[in-house]
Amino acid sequence: MNTRPIVLRMVAVILLVASVGNADGPVPAVPSKQGGEFGVTFFGWSDQHVKTNGDVSHLLEAIDAMNGLPGTAYPRAVGGKVAEPAFVFGCGDVTEWPTHAAVRAYDKVIAERLKFPSYDVMGNHDDGGKVPSDTMRKWITKRHGSLTYTFDRGGVRFIGLYSAFDPDGKPAQPLAKESLATLKKLLAKTPAKTPVVLATHLCFDAITNRDELVDSIGDVNVILVLGGHYHQVTVHHYRGLSFVQFPSPRDQTEVTVLRVTNDRVVAIPYDYARKAWSDDARKILDLKNKAPAARR
Ligand SMILES: [Zn+2]
Repeated sequence: MNTRPIVLRMVAVILLVASVGNADGPVPAVPSKQGGEFGVTFFGWSDQHVKTNGDVSHLLEAIDAMNGLPGTAYPRAVGGKVAEPAFVFGCGDVTEWPTHAAVRAYDKVIAERLKFPSYDVMGNHDDGGKVPSDTMRKWITKRHGSLTYTFDRGGVRFIGLYSAFDPDGKPAQPLAKESLATLKKLLAKTPAKTPVVLATHLCFDAITNRDELVDSIGDVNVILVLGGHYHQVTVHHYRGLSFVQFPSPRDQTEVTVLRVTNDRVVAIPYDYARKAWSDDARKILDLKNKAPAARR
């Protein structure tokens, strides 16, 4: 009769011990599943450039690496182990040019080989550039409802932002006026203090109208701006915003692991060729003691 509460207390103690006993330092509160307490782990990559014939062989190592990352110990300075990611985010240029074969092959490999949900945004290659095609547009719209879309995980709002790219222009371009207007509207609908992660194809170095972007964000609590486009990992800080560029599995052997908790935001590349975390400080974001909810 009254043994039940004791049993429950014992279970609670065992769970508590199990949850703090398996890491090499204090473990921030990272839920292993979505929902519940605030926090989320996810992976990032970009510029997969699936070939027009549907060849995805250059993605397999990156996918297998992501599948194997949960449970891996982070570097000591980060602490803890990689939690099950809520999803993988791709910052665009899924295809070299959006043939049906390329889109089908990517769809298949992320559904059948990658173990986690996948979100993608359009890159400049994905609309066909000077020879337009709507294959990727249709694919993203079908999967996410729209080219620009939002979703929530672990108390964080994610915005995948589409921005039209001028194929006659340079690689560095402004984010389109319409996109910034859409962004403003979406941010206005975001509950106050909700941490927001913004993802688009252009990276910090490529965005020629950064000030307009920062002004569009205003005092909304945007904790990260994610990008791709230049195929390598970079981290920049600009006017209170942190920009992280994801690696391309075509040109790099890295995937980025991101962990957002109550008081810390970490983004660190894992090099699957070396089977080691990046130790290049320029590629690592570690915002300590900055509660995402109170950063700005
Ligand atoms: Zn690219």
